[in-house]
Amino acid sequence: MTDIQALLAKVPTGLLIDGEWVAATSGETYTVENPATRETIAELQSAGSEDAMRALDAACAAQKSWAATPARERSEILRRAFELVQERKEEFATLMTLEMGKPLAEARGEVAYGGEFLRWFAEEAVRIGGRFGTSPETGFPMITRRKPVGPCLLITPWNFPLAMATRKVAPAVAAGCTMVLKSARLTPLTAQYFAQTMLDAGLPAGVLNVVSGTSASAISNPLMADPRLRKVSFTGSTPVGQKLLEAAAGQVLRTSMELGGNAPFIVFEDADIDKAVKGAMGAKMRNIGEACTAANRFLVHSSVAAEFAEKFAAAIGELKLGNGLDDGVTCGPLVEEAAVENVSALVDDAVSRGARVLVGGRRGPDTGHFYEPTVLVDVPREARVFKEEIFGPVAPIFTFETEEEALELANDTEFGLASYVFTEEPARMYRVSDGLEFGLMGFNSGVISNAAAPFGGVKHSGMGREGGFEGIEEYTSLQYIGVEQP
Ligand code: NAP
Repeated sequence: MTDIQALLAKVPTGLLIDGEWVAATSGETYTVENPATRETIAELQSAGSEDAMRALDAACAAQKSWAATPARERSEILRRAFELVQERKEEFATLMTLEMGKPLAEARGEVAYGGEFLRWFAEEAVRIGGRFGTSPETGFPMITRRKPVGPCLLITPWNFPLAMATRKVAPAVAAGCTMVLKSARLTPLTAQYFAQTMLDAGLPAGVLNVVSGTSASAISNPLMADPRLRKVSFTGSTPVGQKLLEAAAGQVLRTSMELGGNAPFIVFEDADIDKAVKGAMGAKMRNIGEACTAANRFLVHSSVAAEFAEKFAAAIGELKLGNGLDDGVTCGPLVEEAAVENVSALVDDAVSRGARVLVGGRRGPDTGHFYEPTVLVDVPREARVFKEEIFGPVAPIFTFETEEEALELANDTEFGLASYVFTEEPARMYRVSDGLEFGLMGFNSGVISNAAAPFGGVKHSGMGREGGFEGIEEYTSLQYIGVEQP
């Protein structure tokens, strides 16, 4: 059992600027709450615009030498960071459970997943290539090379406090970019400890700067207006992503946008229902439903809907709601009271339109921000849960009759991140993937994220890819050299 007070004492509470943990210029602070107990667990320095600019100054000053640092060296720093994260696995997992609420077993899973980005990009750092071609007219060389984009602003959400940071920091480090990281106000502790871990792994001063605080725009606005910043990589909600895209236009910044989702989970008539229920538990309940990839709409063929709903509700009913640090808890609290209110309003709306609650449907104990894991059936398409990202442990089930109708329902959203398809007919996998307007598709699988795969969406779910071979390209720009002709 991790000693929590000793762990919290290890987490830096300042801003990381040029390799030093420092106080905010204003001296202002903010507190972090444990959503399972509503207790304050830490007090951190709150960055403002001036601090953000100091962080950018440090990133800009470090950019040239960092870009010139051999790729092998950058790779080895990432590899050491990967190993340190493994050594500190229990500490990272406990911090995430404390500040975000997910059960400890899931937090350990995030350490494994988030850590993999460090290992994967350590391996990719030494494989940043270019192309060598010949001019079709003269046969003379045409050279294409990849260079670091330059100083980046990285903005991360609260739901995966470690993985969302490593998924951006690792490829930026690998590509030779310097960074200003702004983590989420609700869950800054993991990012603080991760940044310290990067320093411990040998990352030079100024390469990674961390400025988090109570006003996100006070940090991002001046940075994005500064011509020295060259890229913004954002993971969060679509409305905030849209604002950042507008701001990015001013300096024509490179952008990567990982935004909201509204994932369909399609169960065809020939699906293995037990497999589908197992997949549904992962796709819906991972991270208490607070995931951009979370199944938001269960679209089930009418001939198997009753069996699926009954088995799914039974599995959901076995979850144990509580403090994620306690043994046996399989569903934690939501991140804050506003999230409970939002989920509760979505369920009330569906019920007022005729949906039936098979299990759950109520708030949990008010010792924390709890909402019961819930399954809804007979949900009409007009219900808000069809259109809106639920971001909580609520599974609405809709029915369809034909494959065509399933695809029409699935695509009837402005989002296009994750989708899930359950069928025992392999040919259907390709056919359906053709019709689905989503960046990710799980085939008979409820969990799809992998550091080695390109993650990202289409439509209002964003642009760019994180992870995979593609993830590092987001942090490089192409330069073409046309060699002197005879
Ligand atoms: P959010 O409110 O958009 O916040 C995300 C980050 O943006 C936080 O660091 C936040 O800071 C910051 N932010 C908020 N307003 C800002 C502004 N005006 N200018 C600059 N930064 C600003 O989203 P969230 O509630 O944390 O996260 C949930 C959303 O993220 C969901 O929609 C989910 O689908 C999406 N998400 C997407 C992916 C993906 O890969 N596609 C992954 C995870 C989550 P503060 O914390 O200080 O407000």
